[in-house]
Amino acid sequence: MMDTNHPAGVLAPDGRPLAADRDSAAAGGDGTETGPTPAWDVAAIRARFPILSREVNGHPLVYLDSAASSQQPLRVQDRVERYLRMQHANVHRGVHQLSAEATEAYEDARLAVAAHAGTPDPSEIVFTRGTTEAVNLVASSWGGAFVGPDDDIVLTKMEHHSNLVPWQLLAARTGCGLHFVDVTAEGRLDLDDLDRLLKRRPRLVAFTHVSNSLGTINPVREIVARAHAAGALALVDGAQAAPHLLTDVTRLGCDFYAFSGHKMCGPTGVGALWARRELLEAMPPYQGGGEMISEVTLEGSSWAKPPAKFEAGTPNISGVVGFGEAARFLADLGREALASHEDALTRYALGQLGAIEGLRLYGPRRGRTSVFSFTYGDVHPHDLSTILDQRGIAIRAGHHCNQPLMDHYGIAGTARASFYLYNSAEEIDALCDGLAMAAEVFHGIS
Ligand code: PMP
Repeated sequence: MMDTNHPAGVLAPDGRPLAADRDSAAAGGDGTETGPTPAWDVAAIRARFPILSREVNGHPLVYLDSAASSQQPLRVQDRVERYLRMQHANVHRGVHQLSAEATEAYEDARLAVAAHAGTPDPSEIVFTRGTTEAVNLVASSWGGAFVGPDDDIVLTKMEHHSNLVPWQLLAARTGCGLHFVDVTAEGRLDLDDLDRLLKRRPRLVAFTHVSNSLGTINPVREIVARAHAAGALALVDGAQAAPHLLTDVTRLGCDFYAFSGHKMCGPTGVGALWARRELLEAMPPYQGGGEMISEVTLEGSSWAKPPAKFEAGTPNISGVVGFGEAARFLADLGREALASHEDALTRYALGQLGAIEGLRLYGPRRGRTSVFSFTYGDVHPHDLSTILDQRGIAIRAGHHCNQPLMDHYGIAGTARASFYLYNSAEEIDALCDGLAMAAEVFHGIS
């Protein structure tokens, strides 16, 4: 069982411990610290997520796939339902009461999401379908306008395909060069390699805040500072950070930050791009249509101010309303307490999984979140996932949309267990028991 006397290191957005929180993140995983864990009543929190009380294959559900998509609390579902039942109309257009209420709900969600991202200016939040669309928006709009054949863009070898393929498409359109920061054996970005690539004076450095396979928390402030010093803008893929860490775009200093609702207790099909206002003003529209114009004639059109300029057509109103409620749910739980709980789970999982013979964990031990990729002997990750599923344990198996990273490690894929605010130490034990059972099925692990 998890020693609840272990401290829980609260991480700042760049992965460093908060000033008030000693050096626990730096110490993470060695199990030598002492101190109280903030109260986090997992049972009470779980009770707020209806799906977590169901059974799968005759066993209580152990949901360890939140890095792919987290579950939603009743509060978010209720808010969406209330919108659909009593407030639905199109936004921004109508002058009737329902349209006014829908618009208010939609814009109120923007306030909550802006607070979550850490910007005081809600007009810097553009609603998108998710992280993927947010990155595509920047690649199409900013990239189309400001990147040419002689320009370079720096990415990293740990990017999710969502922060890679849009840039490959841009490179195919413009002829710009793409360069990739190497990953160390421990699973961190090689900052010397970054410096080498920055000598090319790229237009942009685009990188993930937290690796969805390795759990690595990248030193965002440091990378942004180096990118800016080299004259580049910095885009951060926050899909795996916004649900877990104290994201604060002002403190991080980046230029673009992308994240998704469904990984932070919200609905699918909705997310956000945060960008500095001057950039949104300078960038051309991404898509044309209703809502995003100021005036239209047959000869041409002028654009609405951001964020409307980037929200063409009727948006996913109910999704946005749910996204806003999810951001408020996390704020009410306390994001520092949430990060502390996850940090405690991370330490416990590192100890328990690390003790299993034949299991190889990927990613660093320190400065990381609670997503764990592993291989177990030569058992195929899909087989592992299937065996665990028979015990109601949901994990992910495959390349996790990180094929270049898998190539880097010379593997086709991994099994991945990811923990969130509603997971408990008992569920880590259940995972370990399930892995022991898998070892029996495969007559030992080699
Ligand atoms: N980036 C990272 C690091 C991710 O983990 C994911 C989701 N797996 C994405 C981008 C894409 O997010 P979405 O599918 O919500 O657009």
